[in-house]
Amino acid sequence: MYSFSTAKDLLKLCKTHDTGIADIAIRYEMEYSQRHRAETIARMRKIKNVMKDAINEGINNPRKSAFRMSGGSAPKLIKALRKKKMAMSPLALRAMAYATATGETNAAMGRIAAFPTAGGAGVVPGVMLACTEVWKMSERKLLNGLFTASAIGKIIAEGATLSAAAGGCQAEVGAAIAMATAGVTEMRGGTPKQCLNAASLGLKSYLGIVCDPLGGLVAVPCIKRNTLGAATALAASDASLAGIESFIPFDEVVMAMKNIAKIMSPKLRETALGGLAVTPTGLRIRKKIGLPPIK
Ligand code: SF4
Repeated sequence: MYSFSTAKDLLKLCKTHDTGIADIAIRYEMEYSQRHRAETIARMRKIKNVMKDAINEGINNPRKSAFRMSGGSAPKLIKALRKKKMAMSPLALRAMAYATATGETNAAMGRIAAFPTAGGAGVVPGVMLACTEVWKMSERKLLNGLFTASAIGKIIAEGATLSAAAGGCQAEVGAAIAMATAGVTEMRGGTPKQCLNAASLGLKSYLGIVCDPLGGLVAVPCIKRNTLGAATALAASDASLAGIESFIPFDEVVMAMKNIAKIMSPKLRETALGGLAVTPTGLRIRKKIGLPPIK
C-alpha cells in the first residue's frame, strides 16, 4: 500500500495521503517490517545515535587509518570555524567536519552507520546533524529528515544501484548527496516536490563520478569526497528552496545514473585499477600494501 520505487510513485502517495515524504517512508517501513510506528522510529533513533558517536570519535579521538592515508582532518575543519574570511558558512564547515569525521572513523575501523554505504556514510549525518545543531531543530525533525533520505536511497537502489562495484562513486557519494539534500530540505519545511528537486540537483552534480580508491581501501579519495559532498548537498537544498528547478526530473536522473553505470569501465568500479588508484601516489600505496603490480 505504501510501497514506491520511483519519485513519481512517492509524490502520488504524498498527495493521496496529504503528507510528507518522511511519513510515507515511515508507513512503508512499518508495512515492510511489520513493526509499530514507535518501534520504527526507535530503530531510526538508534542509527542516529551511531552516527553521532562516529562523529564524536572522528573529532575528539582522531586516529590514523592503515598506511596513514587519513585521520585528523575533521578536527582541522572544526578549528577552521574560528577562522575569519572562510568562504563557507559556519554551518557548511560544520557539516563538512562531521562528514569527514564519519569517514575517518570508518577508515580507522570504527563503528559507523552505512547510510547508504560505508564509503558514502559521511554526507547524510554530516549535513543533518550539523543543521539540527546549528538551527536548533528537534530530534523529531532530524529523524524525519533521515526517513526522507531513506526514501530517496530506496528509489536510487531500485532504479539504479547503490553499489560502487556496479556504478562507481556516483552510487555511493552521489546517492548520499541526493539523500542528504532531500532530507535536509524536508527538515527546512520543503515540500515533497522541493525535496525531490533538491535530490535531482544534488545527484546530477555527482553523475559519472568513478570509484578509484587507493589500494582498494575506503579512505582516499572517499573521505574527502564526503567532505565536499556535504557542501554540495547543502547547496542543492538552498538552490531548491530558492526556486531553482532541475530541468531533468529525479526519476530520469536515476535512469541516467543507471546508463552511466552500464558503460563505466570495470577499471573504475571499485577495482582500484583506474583513476586516482593508478596515479604515482596510488601505485606507491598499492606497492606498500603488497598488492600485485598492474599489468
Ligand atoms: S571512491 Fe569508491 S570506495 Fe570510495 S567512497 Fe567512492 S565509491 Fe566508495
